[in-house]
Amino acid sequence: MNTRLESAFVHVLRRNRGETEFHQAVKEVFTSLTLVEERHPEFADAGIFERLCEPERQIIFRVPWQDDEGRVHVNRGFRVGFNSAIGPYKGGLRFHPSVDAGIVKFLGFEQTFKNALTGMPIGGGKGGADFDPRGRSDAEVMRFCQSFMTELYRHLGEHTDVPAGDIGVGERELGYLFGQYKRITNRYESGVLTGKGVSWGGSLVRKEATGFGAVYFAQAMLEGQGTSLDGKRMAVSGSGNVAIYAIQKAQELGAHVVACSDSSGTVVDEAGIDVELLKQIKEVERERLSAYAERRDGVEYREGAKPWDVPVEIALPSATQNELDADDAAKLVAAGVRAVVEGANMPCTPEAIAVLQEAGVLYGPGKAANAGGVATSALEMQQNASRDSWDFEYTEQRLRDIMRRIHELCAETADEYGRPGDYVTGANIAGFLAVARPMIAQGV
Ligand code: GLU
Repeated sequence: MNTRLESAFVHVLRRNRGETEFHQAVKEVFTSLTLVEERHPEFADAGIFERLCEPERQIIFRVPWQDDEGRVHVNRGFRVGFNSAIGPYKGGLRFHPSVDAGIVKFLGFEQTFKNALTGMPIGGGKGGADFDPRGRSDAEVMRFCQSFMTELYRHLGEHTDVPAGDIGVGERELGYLFGQYKRITNRYESGVLTGKGVSWGGSLVRKEATGFGAVYFAQAMLEGQGTSLDGKRMAVSGSGNVAIYAIQKAQELGAHVVACSDSSGTVVDEAGIDVELLKQIKEVERERLSAYAERRDGVEYREGAKPWDVPVEIALPSATQNELDADDAAKLVAAGVRAVVEGANMPCTPEAIAVLQEAGVLYGPGKAANAGGVATSALEMQQNASRDSWDFEYTEQRLRDIMRRIHELCAETADEYGRPGDYVTGANIAGFLAVARPMIAQGV
């Protein structure tokens, strides 16, 4: 790194002590940006590196709620408005015990570049709470969401900040959140949240979009190498919204998906994952993945294991940050993996990425590969603004085109900066330029 980037990074370390995931995300982007700083001194002159790392706003709030026994709990809520250079803050809400200021910041930082890569007019934001929805009743989740929105509503708006789901926040939670927003504000403001149910302002394909998009991205990467997903063995980590629809689309395109996982273990199903059974267990019953192995013959359940020692050609980490480390990467490489594509946000550690790149494995970073979810959120906003709703085929075609364009943009930018095939450099620089130029245009 050279001086201006280096000093900006020192500020990040000082101002955000102990927030290791945020440091990790910034360092990765800044490493790519050394190439930009050499060519374009105007960004350093305008203080863009420092400005990009300091969120425009950060809100931290108390979320008190009562459980079914009448016991009072207190959680902490967060919303970070990272960057509004190209549109209102846009990004999901995560409900998970690991959520803290550093996690929300790393996610908001990544979101800023990801959203810019989509080519849609959406700024970067993220939020959530350290609430654990696991084992909570519907009524408890509803009371939590209502309390969360009772504070957050004043910071939102279709032109200000537009949340969506993330880990632990799906259509059920968004329904409770939207209901409370509507109650408090006396406005049916559809465009204030995305990922809504299709019967109340949601978009078709939004639910499937992150998983579908990651698979389209993988397909574009493979096509660039003169091959395809057809007949390829594949492992997907996670079994949430991203993983389920990635598996579905990959199977449609001819891939043979043999493994998926949750936080308690991995299933290996040599016959190919049964997506309908997976949906029943995860979306309807909200059960552990071990139930999958109990209900299907010939399935191996590996308690506590990750899916990365299953030999595959394509790996799609789609669970959470830093879930795939250097050892996992080395195992995948030894087994002959050809592409690793991130369905989750920052699932590969920096050491894992180094192992993959060293071995010449195609590597699709999350901020490009998983942008299909938020891109389709922007399509949902567009439908809401025009009080319209599009059909599945048209919406999916839009998503497919967006993912292909992101892939092309990353590949071309990598070429332009002398790193052909390096999607990390391509995504970081293309995302940066799409935000940094409007920041300069809009003044300090
Ligand atoms: N949470 C998703 C992401 O990481 C989607 C955000 C959105 O749709 O606003 O990109």
